[in-house]
Amino acid sequence: MTKSKGSAGPITKEQREDLVAASLILAQHGVLDAFGHVSMRHPADANRYMLSRNLAPELVTSADIVEYDLDSEPVDANAPRGFLERYIHGEIYKARPDVHAVIHTHSPSVVPFGVTRTIMQPIYHMSGFLGRGVPVYDIAKESGRQTDILVREPGHGRDLARVLADKPMALMRGHGNVVVAQDIRVATYRAIYTEMNARLQLQAMMCGGPIEFLSKEEALLTEATLEGQIHRPWELWKAKVKIR
Ligand SMILES: [Zn+2]
Repeated sequence: MTKSKGSAGPITKEQREDLVAASLILAQHGVLDAFGHVSMRHPADANRYMLSRNLAPELVTSADIVEYDLDSEPVDANAPRGFLERYIHGEIYKARPDVHAVIHTHSPSVVPFGVTRTIMQPIYHMSGFLGRGVPVYDIAKESGRQTDILVREPGHGRDLARVLADKPMALMRGHGNVVVAQDIRVATYRAIYTEMNARLQLQAMMCGGPIEFLSKEEALLTEATLEGQIHRPWELWKAKVKIR
C-alpha cells in the first residue's frame, strides 16, 4: 500500500482489530445502532486519529478506517466521506493529551439524564468511573443558538471538550453522550457500563426511597480495581464479534 502524503503510517493489525471490534461490540450491546462512532488516537502520532468512514458501526471493517488530523480533516484528500460529528473526536484529542480513545453514542438509557435534573451517579462497582462526575453539554447553551443538536462544527467540539473537562464521560442534552479513556478497551468498557448504570439507576428510582450510591471513595477504588481486570470482558466481547 502506498503511504499517503503526511500519513503517520499504518497501525498494527491488533490495534486496527481493536478499533473495529469496539464498534461491533458496542453495536452488539445496544450502545450504538446505525449511529455513533469510535475513534483511536494514532499510536505513532498524537496529532492524528483513526475513525471509520461514514458507516453504521456494525458494518465497520478494517478497510473502512480513515486517518484524520486533529482539525478532523482526512490526511488523504481522497478519503471516503466522514461523519458529520467527527469534530467530537478531534477537539477532545486536542484538549485531552491523556485520552487515546473517544466514543460518541446515542446510548438510549442515558438520554433521560441529559434532559432532567436527575444526576447520573455510580449505582454499583462496575461504573465507579462515574464517581468522577458527569457533566452535561447543552449545545444551545454553549453555542447561544438553536441547532440540529449535532456537533458538526469545530466550535461545538471545543465547547463539548471544555464541558467534559477531565471527566471520563459527558452527557449531551437531547442527544447521547461522549466517553473517553486512555485506551480503546477501557473506553468500550465505560460506554457499556454507562448504559448499564443508566438502566439500573432508573430501576432503582422506580423502587422508591433514597438511593445509596457508591461514595466518592468507593467509586474511585472500584474504578482502579475494575480497570485492572479489563482483559477479561475485552477477551469475551472480542470473541463474540466477527472482525473483518
Ligand atoms: Zn450524535
